[in-house]
Formats: sequence, C-alpha cells, structure tokens
Amino acid sequence: MAPLWEAPSRAQRRPTRPIPAPRMLFSRDPPPVRPVRVGSVPAVPGAHPPARHLPGAHPRSVLPARPVPLRRGEGAGPTRPQLPDAPHHRDAARRDRASAMEAAAILYVRHCAAAIFCRRVPPLCPVCGRPLRDAGLLSAPVSLQCPFVHGHRQHRAFLLRPTAGSFLREYDGNSDLHVGISSARGVVYHYNEEGVHRDESGWEQCISVPLVQPDMFELLQQWDQILEEFSMGEEWLPHRYEEHDHNCYTYALAFINSVLTAQGKQQMSKSEFTEKFVIPQTKNASKYITLHQELTTKDFYIVPLPDQEKQC
Ligand SMILES: [Zn+2]
Repeated sequence: MAPLWEAPSRAQRRPTRPIPAPRMLFSRDPPPVRPVRVGSVPAVPGAHPPARHLPGAHPRSVLPARPVPLRRGEGAGPTRPQLPDAPHHRDAARRDRASAMEAAAILYVRHCAAAIFCRRVPPLCPVCGRPLRDAGLLSAPVSLQCPFVHGHRQHRAFLLRPTAGSFLREYDGNSDLHVGISSARGVVYHYNEEGVHRDESGWEQCISVPLVQPDMFELLQQWDQILEEFSMGEEWLPHRYEEHDHNCYTYALAFINSVLTAQGKQQMSKSEFTEKFVIPQTKNASKYITLHQELTTKDFYIVPLPDQEKQC
C-alpha cells in the first residue's frame, strides 16, 4: 500500500501544539463502508451500527482457532521431553502448537477448477486424485503472504490488533480492536482509559498501515518528537477517555491529521481513513484468518474458482 504521506514540494515545519480532533471524526453520516470497530470495552447496544466482523470475513471465520496436534518431525520442531500433564504444561504445549501453526505458510494450488489451500502440497489432487506434480505451471504452489506483521518492527505506522489476544489465536470476530501509532524505534503509542501508553512489546501480530514514504527525510527525523509532543496534550489525559467518542482511534487519527495539517494537507475523516487505508488490509486479513482456521482442522480447504479462472 502506498504511504499516506508523499514527499512535500518544500520543507514543512512540524506542529508546535496538538491540533484539535477533526470535526468529521465521528460523523453522524453512515460511512459508505462499515468501519472496523475499535475500542477497548464492549459497545452499548444501539449506540452505533453493529460492525462486529472484520469486513469481508466469512461468518465461519469467527470461530475460535482450534490447535491441531502436529506429528513429531512435521513442523513442530525438535522432539521435546515429555512433561507431566500439569495444566501449565498443557497450556505451554498448546501455545507451542499454535506457534508452529502460525509459522507454517498457507499454500495455494489450482486444480480441477478449484483453489486448493493447504499447509503442504499433496502428491495427488484431493479432488480428482491425479498427480499434481505434472499438472503444469498453473498448479505450481504459491505461498500466501501473511497479512500480519510484527508491530514493533513497523516504524512510523498505524497499527491495528485485537485489544486482547492475537488475530490468529484468540480473535473471534466479536473481539474489540485497538489501534496505535509506532515510533521510529518501533515503540507503539496508544491511548485508552489509562491515558497514552508507550509499548515496547505486545504488538507482535498486527495489521500495519505504513504512514511515511522513505524519502520524506525531515518528517522521518522529527517523527518521534512530534509523536511524543502530541501525546503530551491534555486531550489524552485518562479522564478525557470516552469509549465511543474519544478513544484509541480518535487519538491515532488526530495524530495523523495533525501531521497532515503541518504538511499543508487536508485532514481525513474517520470513515475516509478507514475506507482508504484500513479496509483493504482487513479484507485480506479476514480471508487469511478464515483459511488459517479451516487449516487447523483440515488438510485442505477447497474453493471452486469462478468460471473465468478455470484453467485445468
Ligand atoms: Zn484435480
């Protein structure tokens, strides 16, 4: 995705004080695309239109991921000594299996007018039983790119993650989402009812929206100072927090808009930013979560291709 900010025609000065939250941030007009719901506490019924699934997610993707035991020597890493069956050991084993599943790539093969998703390409097509090896280039396996990234390695980015847990393990489609902005060093600034936090861990599996193009040297250099000064604003004191109208998204978008203003550009509404920069990423993520969850219980997930894509 293209960075939000492009190089300015001339050097711009950074803002010296926080810019008030934009007027249209929480517009009453329904946005054209349902926004991703953010906030760290459950919504009040009727307060907002329900948007409890990531857009594009199939309802089945809301099922919690079920870890599947890996056979020894098949991706679970070196054989570990048998541990007593105490609850904390079982939890550790479950976490290890979940990590191994998350690390395993999702592969994609086309055959029998279908897309076959799997962790490991079988010798024979699961639909027709013919060998896949000699099926031609169209059946060559392709690895799907994981839409989730390590947030502390994403510099100067808008980050999105479940408020609790991770997308690939605990996210059930009903979970609250939380957003933050990363510094040049990968420290994630985010706002909740306790005020602004500066996290050096906890954002290991995020959806990331890069914000700054690499040739914007002045903004790159000043980013951390701007972010820190912005976060000191009294708008972000704990008592100002409100679940729907002054939350993590308000903070992140107000920061983005303060930089846009300093760059001489127009501010963005919440729906505009969400539709343009967040929805494309969450659509991909929803599909990936669905596949990941299907492949925790099955060897294959087969999707018929539309007519124009049928090749073999
Ligand atoms: Zn086939």
